[in-house]
Amino acid sequence: MASKKYTEKEKKGYLDFNHARTLEQIELMKKIMEDGVCPFCPEYLLKYHPKPILKEGKWWYVSENMSPYEGTRVHLMFFYKKHTNLTSEIDPEAAKELFDLIGWAEKEYEMEGGSFFVRFGKSEYTGGSVDHYHVQMLVGDAKGTDVEHDKLKVKLGYKKLTK
Ligand SMILES: [Zn+2]
Repeated sequence: MASKKYTEKEKKGYLDFNHARTLEQIELMKKIMEDGVCPFCPEYLLKYHPKPILKEGKWWYVSENMSPYEGTRVHLMFFYKKHTNLTSEIDPEAAKELFDLIGWAEKEYEMEGGSFFVRFGKSEYTGGSVDHYHVQMLVGDAKGTDVEHDKLKVKLGYKKLTK
């Protein structure tokens, strides 16, 4: 169960302002909220998303994250073309196409290593900012011995703080 202390007051429509990371995102989210739409549904994605569509499948759009995580060299987004937030509602054909597109990106960006992930369901469990199914793929720097490296930080959920 979600913590009782979580307040929904900052959660409006499809957007969770608790999880916005940049001023640019917050400004855009305010505008989207005024319009009362889901920014990742196809017609609004094409309207609001400031990055070009790199590839379009039958089920997915591929683009870059408008606010890439700090330290990433590549940060891609795969937006499902139907509005859902649950993996159980993804068409099996779309799941296949997703892996094809992830494989395409691996080659296209000459990725030697990276990660991909998806947050599903309620954003208070995940740290997501938009309630629409989207897969993220990121590549940082290779850990070497020449300079110091830190871990990329990705929020995927919450834990209780115990004292
Ligand atoms: Zn949507």
